[in-house]
Amino acid sequence: MTISHLARAIAESPTLKLNEEARILRERGESVIHLGIGEPKNKAPITAILSAAAKISSGDIKYSPPDGTPSLKKAIIRYTEENYGRYVAPENVAVSSGAKFSLYNLFYSLIDPQDEVILLAPYWVSYPEIIKMVNGIPVIVTPEDGTFHPRFEDIEKAVTPYTKAIIVNSPNNPSGVLYREDFIAQIVDYCERKGIYLVMDDIYHKLVFDHKKCPSPYQFTTKDIENTKIIVVNGVSKLYGMTGFRIGWVVTNRRLVSVLHNIQAQTESCPSVVLQAAAEGALNGMQSVVESLRLTIENNRNIILQELKTVNGIRVMPPDGTFYCLPDFRAYSNNSVELANFLLRKAFVVTVPGKEFGMEGHLRLSFAGSVKDIMTGIERIRWALDPNAPSEIYIGDRRMVRDWL
Ligand code: PMP
Repeated sequence: MTISHLARAIAESPTLKLNEEARILRERGESVIHLGIGEPKNKAPITAILSAAAKISSGDIKYSPPDGTPSLKKAIIRYTEENYGRYVAPENVAVSSGAKFSLYNLFYSLIDPQDEVILLAPYWVSYPEIIKMVNGIPVIVTPEDGTFHPRFEDIEKAVTPYTKAIIVNSPNNPSGVLYREDFIAQIVDYCERKGIYLVMDDIYHKLVFDHKKCPSPYQFTTKDIENTKIIVVNGVSKLYGMTGFRIGWVVTNRRLVSVLHNIQAQTESCPSVVLQAAAEGALNGMQSVVESLRLTIENNRNIILQELKTVNGIRVMPPDGTFYCLPDFRAYSNNSVELANFLLRKAFVVTVPGKEFGMEGHLRLSFAGSVKDIMTGIERIRWALDPNAPSEIYIGDRRMVRDWL
């Protein structure tokens, strides 16, 4: 059996791999704490469930247009108007099965072989692989040591005649950083002038803390939706805690949407109409569910920061949003893959190596789970790494003694 060069070059999703390892350990009866997972614990909004249930009960479960049902598009148009101050047409919206798939379809539509896409480190793990899958080249811009905020000058320096797009994800997975407003304004202006697509991955845009606000990128351009280089990607996974519903979308110009329409028609045919109905229910329902999730997550953020303070030597940049932080563990190891494996084997805590996000020496910790998981997880990390921590701990109902420090 031969496998294509391209497919062989694509890495396994480290987060999904860790989920699988954790599941196997749990099945063996181990008490696993999952600080790796990027999904909130809340149940899907009731309006989403009722809307999907009504669709199923109708028995009328057929294909929809490849780029989404008119009624979901309508809900997305309203969402875009309310949250971005832009009125767009149905022809500016393409719905697909999750924001990840939206990004894949988008880059499939934009990239010719050898075209470059600029990523800002730390970046979401899937961006480089998606770009490679469409024969593009990911170009990484890394901030100066110790910060998670790239410099505009460094982005400018990374641009070449092959640069097709820049991806901005703010607030950012994995660091939780919200990029400064003047920085976004500068990138928008630059991309508009240079004709480079600016892909705003806004999947966490309302999960922001401390009364901060994620700005609408459209406020920094005078161009209309047909002419701007800004492309917004969003979805229901994170804000509504609907990761399993797999609905995401792209807002962009009509020409690009018509291309996305064709690509989706020849691949997925259309996202499931049941799941589209669920997304519509969430978008049209009470938006207080998003605020209530945001408050829970902000509280979790405060707790994880408090707990991390008890571990000697770890430095953490307080996240402005998302449900992740990316502490610097270099006081204990420069090899984040080894460190994450060590913590899983010894303390049964799942973390994600910073290396996967372009930030070696760091671990991504998710605080999307319960307060108990956060507190127990950090206590175990402290026990496993910090010589000042008591050498005994209970993991599940087993008393464990640290014998490696
Ligand atoms: N972008 C970022 C930055 C993400 O973290 C994720 C999910 N982990 C996605 C996109 C994809 O979201 P979806 O579940 O809608 O595919």
